[in-house]
Amino acid sequence: MNFSTLMTTFSLFFFMMVRAAPPARASCSQGRTAASAQCCVWYDVMDDLQANVFNGGSCDDEAPDALRLSFHDAVGISAQLKKQNKFGGGGADGSIIAFSGIELAYGSNVGLESIVAAERAVADAHNVSYGDIVQFAAAVGVRNCEMGPRIPFMAGRPSATKEAPEFLVPEPFHDVTTILARVADAGLTGPDLIALLASHSMGVQEDVDPSITGMGFDTTPRIFDVAFYNETFSKKGTMIPGDLLHKGEALSPSKSQFRLQSDVALAHDPRTVATWVALSVNQGLMASRFAAAMAKMALLGQNARALTDCSEVIPK
Ligand code: CA
Repeated sequence: MNFSTLMTTFSLFFFMMVRAAPPARASCSQGRTAASAQCCVWYDVMDDLQANVFNGGSCDDEAPDALRLSFHDAVGISAQLKKQNKFGGGGADGSIIAFSGIELAYGSNVGLESIVAAERAVADAHNVSYGDIVQFAAAVGVRNCEMGPRIPFMAGRPSATKEAPEFLVPEPFHDVTTILARVADAGLTGPDLIALLASHSMGVQEDVDPSITGMGFDTTPRIFDVAFYNETFSKKGTMIPGDLLHKGEALSPSKSQFRLQSDVALAHDPRTVATWVALSVNQGLMASRFAAAMAKMALLGQNARALTDCSEVIPK
C-alpha cells in the first residue's frame, strides 16, 4: 500500500466515521429524546393524557372513546360535496373539538361529549392543535389495550376552519352499499374500513342501547384480538341482550354481548367478506392492517409533507 492509497483509505474511513455519527437528538422532558424537537411536546401530552384522561394508562372507557372520536373527526370529509363547490369538511382536523357546539349535536356523535372536553383541556394546556390531539390520543389509547398495536403519529395539523357537514359519519343502521360509498367519498377503501373495525374488538357500545352501556362486541372486550371478526362472522345471533332491539342493533349470540347491524352485514357481504375472514384468523395481519388504516385515516384532508413524524413518542 503506497502513501496515496493509504491516505485515500484513511479519508474514506474518516468520511464514514463522520457519516455514521448519530444525528443530534432533541432533549425532551424527563431525559427523553426525539429526532425532531417538535416532537418533544408530545411526551408531555402523553403523560397528561395517561394521568388525567386514561386513568393511569388504562384501556377503560376513555381509550375506546378516543378511538371512536378519531374516526368521527377524520371521516368528516367529502369529495362529492367539494365537487359541488360546497365545503366538504376538513377530515382529521379536530373540527369535532373546535366546533363541538355544532358537531356534537349531530346524532352520530352522541356520547362523545366527555372525551371531547377532556382532549380539549389537554390540547389547550400544551398548545397543540385539536386535529393532532384527536389522532394522538387514539394512538396512545390503543396502546393501553392488551395487544393494541403501535399506530404512526404525524404532528402539525393546522386548526380547523369550519365544522364538518352533518351526515358524513356512517351509522350502524346503514346498509353496506351506503357505508362503502360514504367511506370511499371520504378517501377510504372497503378493506380500510374492515381493518378500522378492529376498534370494535376493544370497544363497547354505550348509546345504541343505553340500558346496557359498556357491553363489548365480542367475548374479549378491551383486548385487541381476532375474536371480534371471528365471532361476528361465525356465531349466529339469536338473542337481545338489552331491553329491546334498538335501531342499528342486530341479534346477539350472547346476553352479555352486543352486535351492530353494520358489523354483521359487513362480515357477510360479498364485497367485504374476504377481508373480514382474513383478519378473523390472523392476529398479525389484523394489527398491521389496522395500524396502516389508522395512519391513512389520520391524514384525511391533511398534507402529510407538511407534518412531522413523531411516531417514536407512541409507547413501544
Ligand atoms: Ca373533522
